[in-house]
Amino acid sequence: MSAASSPVQVYVGIGSNLDDPRAQVTRAIAALRGLAMDDSFRVSPLYRSPALPSEVADQPDFINAVAGFVTRLSPAALLARLQALEAAQGRVRDGTRWGPRPLDLDILLYGEAEMDTPALRIPHPGLGERAFVLYPLYDIAPGLRLPDGRALAALVAACDAAGLEKLEGT
Ligand code: ADP
Ligand code: MG
Repeated sequence: MSAASSPVQVYVGIGSNLDDPRAQVTRAIAALRGLAMDDSFRVSPLYRSPALPSEVADQPDFINAVAGFVTRLSPAALLARLQALEAAQGRVRDGTRWGPRPLDLDILLYGEAEMDTPALRIPHPGLGERAFVLYPLYDIAPGLRLPDGRALAALVAACDAAGLEKLEGT
């Protein structure tokens, strides 16, 4: 067992743009549910968005969602569990960042924690401006404030959601 600490509310970003992304995200949600204490698990609807511009051109669209739950896992232990889930769903880490991937799981928030190490940056660096993170996070935690005091609602209001599509029935 990983070192247990006090229960902490965490939010995890889920993304996929390879190998039936919708099925990948649905499978990841089921796996993440297994990490949640008691009945703390919440998950947003699924969203579709175009891949961010990168050196890897012409990527398929992403399917994204955000899950929130309470855990006693430490940040490092949670990251290890998320990376094991990524690996179980076929992700090969070849050093290419921002390439297409069957599953990407990012720790968006870990309670009020702020950390900045090479292995772990929390809050996740893209959190404040990425529509595909902010909108689903807002769906499950509309009253949230980031550790720096910024209100999630204000970030959502300032965020251009062009290209982001909420998938009905999810
Ligand atoms: P990205 O998610 O930025 O596209 P990767 O999923 O390939 O890239 O992540 C690369 C590394 O990012 C991981 O090995 C992990 O140690 C590190 N990392 C830093 N902060 C976080 C975080 N908050 N959540 C998940 N991984 C993180
Ligand atoms: Mg990642």
